[in-house]
Formats: sequence, structure tokens, C-alpha cells
Amino acid sequence: MPLKKFIPFSLPLIEKEEIEEILDTLNSCWITTGPKVKKFEDAFARYIGSKHAVAVNSCTAALHLALDAIGIKKGDEVITSPMTFASSAEVIRYFSATHVLVDIVKKRRHKVENRRKLKAIIPVHYAGYPCEMDSIMQIARNYDLKVIEDAAHAFPTFYKGKIIGTIGDITCFSFYATKNITTGEGGMITTENGTWAERMQIMSLHGISKDAWKRYTSAGNWYYEIIAPGYKYNLTDIAAALGIAQLKKADKLWQRRTEIAMMYNKAFKDLPEIETPNSLLYSPYTLHLTHDSQTRHSWHLYVIKLNCEYLSIDREQFIEELRARGIGTSVHFIPLHIHPYYRRTYKYRPEDFPVSYETYKKIVSLPIYPKMTDNDVERVIEAVTDVIAKNRR
Ligand SMILES: *Cc1c(COP(=O)(O)O)cnc(C)c1O
Repeated sequence: MPLKKFIPFSLPLIEKEEIEEILDTLNSCWITTGPKVKKFEDAFARYIGSKHAVAVNSCTAALHLALDAIGIKKGDEVITSPMTFASSAEVIRYFSATHVLVDIVKKRRHKVENRRKLKAIIPVHYAGYPCEMDSIMQIARNYDLKVIEDAAHAFPTFYKGKIIGTIGDITCFSFYATKNITTGEGGMITTENGTWAERMQIMSLHGISKDAWKRYTSAGNWYYEIIAPGYKYNLTDIAAALGIAQLKKADKLWQRRTEIAMMYNKAFKDLPEIETPNSLLYSPYTLHLTHDSQTRHSWHLYVIKLNCEYLSIDREQFIEELRARGIGTSVHFIPLHIHPYYRRTYKYRPEDFPVSYETYKKIVSLPIYPKMTDNDVERVIEAVTDVIAKNRR
């Protein structure tokens, strides 16, 4: 067999606009937090339609600052999902607060009344498909909980006509290298609440009073005041330059992700061996959704679920077979509760969150990114189809 180019799981799309914007920043000699960060924040707030946008150096930092802003304290409880990345729960631990993991099952009832310590919910818009925000907001309003959205995958995602970033109390986005738009490392926080926005801005740079970065401009002043023990979470102008260029093509990037998802859906729809993402999203109309339309998947991830009863191989072997055919994949996620720290500290057993655990054993994330050519997508389809054909039970 002739050796074919390996198709990695993820690659960013960096074009001349990104490079020119970064060169402009380098030539300006203002390389850390400054005018480009401000410009990126303004452009992001405009895109989302949020009152405030605060840029930070990761989504993890964003989540941490959000919990600080709403006043999470030691002993408080915060709900999140086990089916997520490390960040969503570790930020709760930063406060010596307690995470309450809720399994990924629809319409399960959880007791939230009479939990005096319960203060917030961190829903995770898994893969870029929005959570049931109406129910989440309803519960939050009924029990006086704050909603901090982990929207690391959800840009741009719409829930019933509203863009993610305008629904919960605070929303946290990621611009990590694999995310829908990237700054290498970076994040953004949106909120309607000016007090929280100011607090997060201040805490993102050592708790120094507002607009600390301006002290080195002609408008600045050497004097500053530390009003709280803050963090070092500011985004650099170099990173923001990348973000400004990426944000301008966000719609185009999303369009290409959607095209790829539709190619996969079409190719896999008659294979009983795999389950493809939510059938509601098969609609060809999804491709033509605009900002004021209903629900829109960001297609950050394309996750297939193996129907193992039809296959003679398990998920690990499936991934190895794809690798042998030159296709990189990943798994989203290894549920939090089966990681050593969580098992050791909280005595979790895999079956404590059975839906997450059983799902985890069967899922594979296929490559989906705008840099993929149609030929790349075809190769993934051929490889998946071939692995299935050769390993039917
Ligand atoms: C990537 C990711 C994060 C963390 O984002 P960083 O910007 O790397 O901190 C948080 N939550 C989820 C679900 C993610 O996938």
C-alpha cells in the first residue's frame, strides 16, 4: 500500500491575515496586553452581542475568574458534568469548594432544593451542541444559582435563536490551538453584569485597579493600587492579533466545519455499527442557518459512538485501525470521575456516573477542521467504512 499523508486529529487554519496582524503587532513593539486586546474584546462583544467581553489567557482562567466574581467560597457546591475537560471541575477545587457531578442523562431529576451550599451550575456545551439552557436557567432562577457556561466548544453556537454567550450569567470561551477560533492559548469571558466584568478584569491582572496596562502609555500614570490578590491571566497583544484575524473569519470557519459534518452524516447514516451526532442536525438546512435562526451546532467535535454489539473490535482497536490507515482521532472525554485524582480523593467508582462511563467506552472523535480538504474528508470516510467492513460481527 502506498504511504499516505497522516491526517492529524486537529490543525489550526493560519493564513496571511493572521500573519499580517501578528507582524503588525510585532512592528508596533506593543506585544503584551494593550490596544489589540482591547480591539479583540470589542470585536468579540460585538459578534456575540454581549455588553462586556474580557480577554484572558485561557478558558480555565476564565472559569476561575467567573467563580471568583460570583463569590464562590470554601465549602460551596457547584454542579458540573463528568463528561468534560479537567478545567470545568478543577476551578471549583481552587476555592476548596465542592464539585457536584451530574451524569449526562436527559430528564434525570436531581435534588437541588434544601442544598444551601449549592451556588452555581457550570453546564458544558459538549462538542459545540448547546445544553438545554431553558431548563438550566429555570432551575437556576428557582434556586438562586448562578450559571457559568463552559463554552470552550461553543463558538459559534445558538440555542433557540440565542447565541451562546448571552444566556447564562457568565460565559467562558476557549481559544486553545484546537478550538474553533484560536489565539494559540487564550480565552474570553462574556457577561451583561458590569460589576462582575470589572472584577474579572481586575483579577486577571494581579488585582490592580482598572486599566492597569495603560500605565505605560502616554495616557498612563505610574501610580496603581492593588485592591485584591489577583492572578496573572492577561492575554497578550500577539495572541489577540491572531484572535482578531480569526474572529473575522469565524462564520467561514464554521461553514466549513458544517460542510464536513454533513459529509460525515451522509456517509455514515446507513451504518448500524456507528451512531452519528444528533439526528436533528442532519437537516440540510443546518448549513444555511443564520444568526437569527434556531439552534446551531458549532461542530467543534464530530463524535461517533460505536455500536459494539455489531463489531468484533473495541474502541481502542478501532482507533488503532484508523491510525494504521493514517487517520488521527481523539476521545472526548475520559470522564473526570475515572481519573486517579478524582477516584482517589472522592472514592468514585466508574459506575457512579454510568451514562458517562458507558458512553466513554464507545466514543471516537473524528478529524473536523476547516483546513481539511474534501479529499481528506473522503479519506476519513473510506477509513471508517473500511474498518467497519473488515470488523463486522
Ligand atoms: C479546551 C477546554 C477547556 C479549557 O480551555 P483552555 O483554554 O485550554 O483553558 C475547558 N473546557 C472544555 C470543555 C474544553 O474542551
